[in-house]
Amino acid sequence: MSQLNAGSIVQNMAMEFDNTQRRFVPARNTIEPLCEGQVLVRVLCCTLCGSDLHTVSGRRSGHDRGVLGHEIVGEVVGWCGPNAPVDYYGSQLQIGQRITWAMSVGCECCFYCDNDLNQKCDSLFKYGHEANQGRPTGGLSEHCVLVAGTPIFPVPAVLSNEVVAPVNCATATVSAAFRLVSQTHRMQGASVLIVGAGMLGLTAAAQCSEAGASQVIVADPNEERAKLALLFGATEVLVSETAEERKETLLGMTDGRGVDLAIDFAGMTSAVEACLESVRLGGCVMLVGSVFPSDPIALYPELAVRRMLTLRGLHNYLPCDLDHGLRFLERNHQRFPFESLVGKRFPLAEVDLAFEYAMQQRPVRVAVYPHGGD
Ligand SMILES: [Zn+2]
Ligand SMILES: [Zn+2]
Repeated sequence: MSQLNAGSIVQNMAMEFDNTQRRFVPARNTIEPLCEGQVLVRVLCCTLCGSDLHTVSGRRSGHDRGVLGHEIVGEVVGWCGPNAPVDYYGSQLQIGQRITWAMSVGCECCFYCDNDLNQKCDSLFKYGHEANQGRPTGGLSEHCVLVAGTPIFPVPAVLSNEVVAPVNCATATVSAAFRLVSQTHRMQGASVLIVGAGMLGLTAAAQCSEAGASQVIVADPNEERAKLALLFGATEVLVSETAEERKETLLGMTDGRGVDLAIDFAGMTSAVEACLESVRLGGCVMLVGSVFPSDPIALYPELAVRRMLTLRGLHNYLPCDLDHGLRFLERNHQRFPFESLVGKRFPLAEVDLAFEYAMQQRPVRVAVYPHGGD
């Protein structure tokens, strides 16, 4: 019986993050009976995103107590209601099916949802960001309850849990960035500067490469990460250049014009300034990394006007971007070594150690397996 009736009792273990005490607390609970349209998922793997690290380190504020983790892959345990809910493509969910889902769920009827900004919905729900309300909705838990209306995606069999887990944050956000860029600029033959060689920067390099960019230049002060970008489609890497040297180098690579597109995933003011200084006349600056408070930067309006710059910001993504991200990984999981980006695996009970390792060793990703194994 796939439908979980009102009497179904599911025991769960989650590691809840207590923001006041700034520590993880084990929470063994019975999951409250599901409501109509909700889906119960067994979490197979959750990778730790930079924003999880920001929450735990106190750089980003969060709810008092709840389950973090939003880069999740899981399998369907059951649902509430007589009919199986349908996935993004309209097919009914199957028990045991491996799935991932959109990190943000919009209401589909407010002003922002009506204007292709579901991720800014007036009544937005975000996995791994909500306060505890009797049902776990983050990945650092044995189970996760999907709210009604969540865009759900079956995971292609060729993608391992570790390769696919970041798709519903990092990969989909990169897909969203290029969807916005493509509204004004061509990727085919483009010269692109990517600042930051973390999960998003590496994925962006790979997506640029697949989209036919002629120059994919990745800048990161961490030499190891910058060099990693060469395996993800980067044609050049910039490591320790000063602002002046970088400008010279980029002008040299682009017949003295500057790059067509500069994309920031780092969020530091110096990175944003580097992007603004590096684009050609008529170029596009795409800002994605500034998801935490920073100092302001000087923007000369005359320069933006005379240089006819396109300046865009992006936060999160739409369900169509998650679809694009999944298809991208399906086509390219063997071409680029995404598998190698998970530095270490931890069981759920050792989530403290997982965060400690992620912050100290700074691998591109750390994975948590709530049920062990991989
Ligand atoms: Zn994230
Ligand atoms: Zn809405």
